[in-house]
Amino acid sequence: MASETSSDPAPTRDVSAHAPVRRVPVDRVVHPEEHTPVDAPNLTETERRLLGDLFAIVEEHAGDSIVEIDKRRVQEAFVFACEHHADQRRASGEDFINHPVGVAKICAGMRLDTSTLCAALLHDTVEDTSASLDEVQDEFGDEIAQLVDGLTKLSGVTFQSRDDRQAENYRKMMVAMARDIRVILIKLADRLHNMRTIGSMPKAKQHEKGGETLEIFAPLAHRLGINAIKWELEDLAFATLHPRKYNEIRQLVSQQREERDAYVDRAGAYLEKELKAVGIEADISGRAKHFYSIYSKMTKKGREFNEIYDLTAMRVLVDSVKDCYGAIGVIHSLWKP
Ligand code: MN
Repeated sequence: MASETSSDPAPTRDVSAHAPVRRVPVDRVVHPEEHTPVDAPNLTETERRLLGDLFAIVEEHAGDSIVEIDKRRVQEAFVFACEHHADQRRASGEDFINHPVGVAKICAGMRLDTSTLCAALLHDTVEDTSASLDEVQDEFGDEIAQLVDGLTKLSGVTFQSRDDRQAENYRKMMVAMARDIRVILIKLADRLHNMRTIGSMPKAKQHEKGGETLEIFAPLAHRLGINAIKWELEDLAFATLHPRKYNEIRQLVSQQREERDAYVDRAGAYLEKELKAVGIEADISGRAKHFYSIYSKMTKKGREFNEIYDLTAMRVLVDSVKDCYGAIGVIHSLWKP
């Protein structure tokens, strides 16, 4: 966040103020160096590092989140998961515990609460280990046990049809079965982490998961308004299903990125000035389209890449509905819709 002191000269325009913000995964840690290592003598060094990575995300959101995370509870769930997943490995060969921690990190990135983080850490214990739901309930209480149970039940449902209506039914069924929305949020995080690490799965499995992600999980994230998860799910599924097209678009996008960023930056500065002239204070930022949205525009509208003009969008945030209509009026007078 920019800060100015009174001794600063008159503020000069920051040239990149409106340049498009890069899309980053929801669990990205911005200041990894600022976090204190976990002090838990009974954990191994690897375990301390894993837990520290999770806490780093929690700490970064501590200021802007309305929920306060009970780290002691999270650590208890982490230890339980470590014990029960001990000796289990993922298809990639890495220790299984990396997966529940990865899922919990994504949940922490979404600023979810203590019970959700615990359930994320425990989400595969009842399904894949000797742990029983009763054990989870005894150690962590009803709320967390119900979340874990919801996830265990959902994992039993598989999706096969390619039909749109079936996909819609399946999404509805998932939401109905979950009862608690946090189950769906953990499920989305679970899918996102699995998509990030899908490279070590057999090709047929990759294809199946990629299709499911595009038809079920990304639309679900979209309905819930969680764009930070939706775009990454779509790009990962796109890369999995159509690797050649994905790389082609990625290259095309990077080719003129600097010119495009500079243009959006100039347009943003210009718009800000014009809005100010009519008394509207606005927060303007650029946002790049993600690869899958470019691809689907090309396929759905039968366009070539160079016919897609809105590779970058501009976002204008104002304080009131009145200013919002005012801003759209100014925008339409500057650029014809
Ligand atoms: Mn899982």
